[in-house]
Formats: sequence, structure tokens, C-alpha cells
Amino acid sequence: MLKGKVAVVTGSTSGIGLGIARALAAEGADIMLNGFGDPAEIEAIRTGIAAEFGVRTAYNGADLSKPAETTGLIEAATAELGRVDILVNNAGIQFVAPVEAFPDDKWELVVAINLSACFYATKAVIPQMRARNWGRIVNIASAHGLTASINKAAYVAAKHGLVGLTKVVALETAETGITCNAICPGWVLTPLVQKQIDALAERKGIDADQARRELLSERQPSKQFVTPAQLGALAVFMCSEAGAELRGAAVNMDGGWCAQ
Ligand code: NAD
Repeated sequence: MLKGKVAVVTGSTSGIGLGIARALAAEGADIMLNGFGDPAEIEAIRTGIAAEFGVRTAYNGADLSKPAETTGLIEAATAELGRVDILVNNAGIQFVAPVEAFPDDKWELVVAINLSACFYATKAVIPQMRARNWGRIVNIASAHGLTASINKAAYVAAKHGLVGLTKVVALETAETGITCNAICPGWVLTPLVQKQIDALAERKGIDADQARRELLSERQPSKQFVTPAQLGALAVFMCSEAGAELRGAAVNMDGGWCAQ
């Protein structure tokens, strides 16, 4: 379905981004991977996706807290894979502290990666999408883009901002073949969430299994984690022709979180 398309997936060396990169590759898209990690492991991911799905893959280690590197990622993908048709703004980090104790540098970093990088990448990619009158921008926001939790000021602000950015870009491209939508996942068991489970276990003196159950039962009615593969399938739908008139939506896949 996506053969001949090139997708940039930010933060795709792990977790949700990797799940989405695999799902797009399974549909035939060539993939530019991005994110941090062990170089040998990243190379194994890159060659593994290429071999499993018969697509072209490349990797760029741009640090998305830096606007010039974010723009450079789009330039590198265009140079190495020929074009960018699909942009998945997925890279994100978390930091947890009450507002009055929230370190300024952590606020800046969370907003830079979770929100500003999505703006810079979108700005860099839209001209070529307009030139071909086709494009898909998928922003990975969060249930925290629609609701709030204590101690997550920067994350919740950035994710609400990303839902807003999604709507603006969708409106500005509404008469074109470019769409922009957001996915708002609930809890997904990735390294980002494992850190929060470990912190909860330590704080309450419970084991990791109990902490996992507690975390889920606080917000996620299904008490099941959403999986990267399920989110990948939703991203594929957004990139398909069936998704052509899905514009400016924030689709929550969250085990019922936002229904409460
Ligand atoms: P993760 O920690 O498994 O993966 C994050 C990815 O982003 C990694 O590839 C990492 O290397 C990359 N990254 C981090 N900082 C970067 C930077 N400065 N430049 C480039 N890449 C960088 O996390 P995840 O849980 O897969 O999260 C992916 C996205 O999904 C994030 O935006 C997160 O906010 C969002 N999300 C996660 C959950 C969840 O429960 N895991 C829920 C809702 C939304």
C-alpha cells in the first residue's frame, strides 16, 4: 500500500516509534530511522527491517532538541532516500516533578523535543509535500494531550500543544493531499514507561509486577497496555488513501483512558 513512499519516523530506535516504523515498512514504505542508542543495535534494527520487509532503510542520529539537527534530518532523508512523503513525529521524553520544583532546563528540554521538534520537522517537510500534493504527518501526542496528571507540567503542556499544532497544520493543508493527525496513546510498555514503573515500585516498596498493575489501574480502564503494533496499525490507516479525509483529528488509543 505504501510502496514508493518514504517515511521519516523520529525516535524509532525504541518503543512506539520502532513499532510504527515496522508497520509502515510492512506496507512497503522506505524508512529513515532516528533516535539514540547503541550503534550496533541500531544497525541491526536498520538491516533487520530492510531484510524482513524488502524496503530501503537509512538511519540519522539527529538530536531533536536542536532545531538545526531536526531540519537536517529531513534534508538527510530527502538526500539519501529521494523524498519524504510521511513524517511521524514520535520522539519524546518525560520528566516528573511538581511545578514549583520543576527544573527549568528539564522544562526546556521536554518542550524542545516533544513539541518544538515537531514544528521544525513539519516546517521542513511541507514544501516538498505541497509540490507533490501528497503527504501524511502523524504526530504522536498522548492521552496527556487531552487530559492532565499531576507532576507532568512540561509533558502535558507539550502534548496539548502538539494537538493544537496538528489542528493548525491540518487546516493550512486542508485543500491539499496532505493530512496531519495526532495519535493519543494511553500507557504503552516501553522504556519511557518502564522508568515510571520502576520509580513507583521504589516509592511504594512494591515489586515491578504490582507497580505495573497499579499504574494501569489508575488511568487505563482496560488494565491492558496498548502495544506499539496496535499504534503502528493506526498510523498505517492514517497514511492510507482511506484516511485521506481524516484531518486534524486527535485519535485516542488508550484502553478507555479518555472516556472517563
Ligand atoms: P521510548 O523512550 O521507548 O522511545 C523514545 C524514542 O525517542 C527513542 O528512540 C529515543 O532514542 C528517541 N529520542 C529521545 N530523545 C531524543 C532526541 N533528543 N532526539 C532524537 N530522538 C530522541 O518512548 P516511547 O514510550 O516509545 O515514546 C514514544 C512517543 O510516544 C513519545 O512522544 C511519548 O511521549 C509518546 N507516548 C508514549 C506513551 C507510553 O505509554 N509509552 C504514551 C503516550 C505517548
